[in-house]
Amino acid sequence: MYDLLCAGCGHRTAMMLLDDIIREKNLKEKVILALDVACCSLLIDYVDYDSIMCAHGRVLDVTKGYKEMRRENVVISYMGDGAAYSIGIEEMVHAARRNDDVFAIVINNGLYSMTGGQVAPTYVDVAYSGRENGINSSADDYYKEKGFKIEDIIGKFSIKYLARAALTDKENIDIAKKYISTALNKYVNVGGFNLVELLSPCPTNYKMTPKDTVNMINDKLSKVYQIGEFING
Ligand code: SF4
Repeated sequence: MYDLLCAGCGHRTAMMLLDDIIREKNLKEKVILALDVACCSLLIDYVDYDSIMCAHGRVLDVTKGYKEMRRENVVISYMGDGAAYSIGIEEMVHAARRNDDVFAIVINNGLYSMTGGQVAPTYVDVAYSGRENGINSSADDYYKEKGFKIEDIIGKFSIKYLARAALTDKENIDIAKKYISTALNKYVNVGGFNLVELLSPCPTNYKMTPKDTVNMINDKLSKVYQIGEFING
């Protein structure tokens, strides 16, 4: 198949993990995959189950509507950090506050990737200090150093699951698969709000090789955005 994603892109790894888990759990016939626009939307050509493309930042609204009407379906929300934490932060906060039935994957690469690498709320200077593409963050110094951590925003709500993993080496990818599988199990068997954030390479916009991008995430970005399970209720 024609490969639409750049070399070393984390979306490919995320989708392969998600697809493995869906098939292992024999859920393919029930899945509706809701994708945000931009690089996320390219995944619509990688799957052979029902999928929909949503307006930017509105994935959770769309999936909540689907789940309300089609309780038997496994409705998956897949979006980038710009969509989830900037354009869609209102939906995110209130869906978590209500503990809505949600299974969400959020790709954290700190950027709006398809449109040239404008910074998302998750951008941190410490991780991207080698980046020289002329785009500067308008975030204030606190966020450029500390990052925008979703666990600080929704971690006090009574949600079912919240975790972060990194799509880098085998050890971290195995952890990512475990977290995604746990979140999907909870969504299917218990319900409630379940979210896994994935630190994800975008070598094209970092202007690094895929290998250097992975090293940067492991050595720097994961020190700002800690990997682990924050809520497993
Ligand atoms: S621009 Fe970045 S996020 Fe988009 S496909 Fe390329 S590597 Fe992946």
